[in-house]
Amino acid sequence: MTRKYVASRRCMMCRQHICTSVMLRFIRAKDGEIVFDRNRSLGLRGTWVCADGSCLSRIVNKGPFERVFRKPVIVDVECLKLSAR
Ligand SMILES: [Zn+2]
Repeated sequence: MTRKYVASRRCMMCRQHICTSVMLRFIRAKDGEIVFDRNRSLGLRGTWVCADGSCLSRIVNKGPFERVFRKPVIVDVECLKLSAR
């Protein structure tokens, strides 16, 4: 029996490892803007958040992103949440 490989990533909010199929990916663009990576195809360093809404709703400012990327970021949190729906 071969076990099917399931990619998982750590959610930046709850820090649990979760299958990427139920997560949202965000990247930091070169100008510092946080962008929702809908197709998970942007080749930039990204961070992951659970897609179930609870972790997403806990993002109230850019703090978590700055912690992850360790750089200043530009993000409109409300816009980001809308685009990620
Ligand atoms: Zn989470």
